[in-house]
Amino acid sequence: MSFELPSLKYDYNALEPHIDARTMEIHHSRHHAAYTNNLNAAIENTELADTSIEKIHENISKHPVAVRNNGGGFYNHNLFWEIMSPDGGGEPSGELLAAINSAFGSFGSFRDEFSRAAATRFGSGWAWLVSSGGKLMVTSTPNQDNPLMDVVPAGERGTPILGIDVWEHAYYLGYQNRRPDYISAFWNVINWDEVSKRFRK
Ligand code: MN
Repeated sequence: MSFELPSLKYDYNALEPHIDARTMEIHHSRHHAAYTNNLNAAIENTELADTSIEKIHENISKHPVAVRNNGGGFYNHNLFWEIMSPDGGGEPSGELLAAINSAFGSFGSFRDEFSRAAATRFGSGWAWLVSSGGKLMVTSTPNQDNPLMDVVPAGERGTPILGIDVWEHAYYLGYQNRRPDYISAFWNVINWDEVSKRFRK
């Protein structure tokens, strides 16, 4: 068994003007493809070749660093493409909104906290909305780590239901060094239906 690069459910230019087509194309067809290929190479002929990516993450500290970097890169980008949509933006509703209000006070407070986590993650990494037993929190991780991994502090572990890639390759062509503008634009493409679906799971 090997992991496969997923197709996007929308065209590379579908998230414009918020994320430009060339950035999307390079990000998916080169960066995500490389994480996928390198992950497959790292697990070939090991017991991990028949293990789910989630299970691999749970014991990531026991695996070679190539599995951590590329397995994280594979999983994180799978999530990233899904939680964005050309029909995205706005605010969540229902159970997810109730959980956000309960954890952060209001959607606006959540938005501020998530944006701050993304802006202040030094260097490359991700900011997350994490569900842990139905309770929500905002965290961030360096490089291609994520909250499923056992290298993350216990209090910050859980299931990521929303994530923003703050590696420069996610925004550099369109935004150059203006990470705050990219973070601000991201809110226009968040697919809250998909985030809600992941929360209900
Ligand atoms: Mn990326």
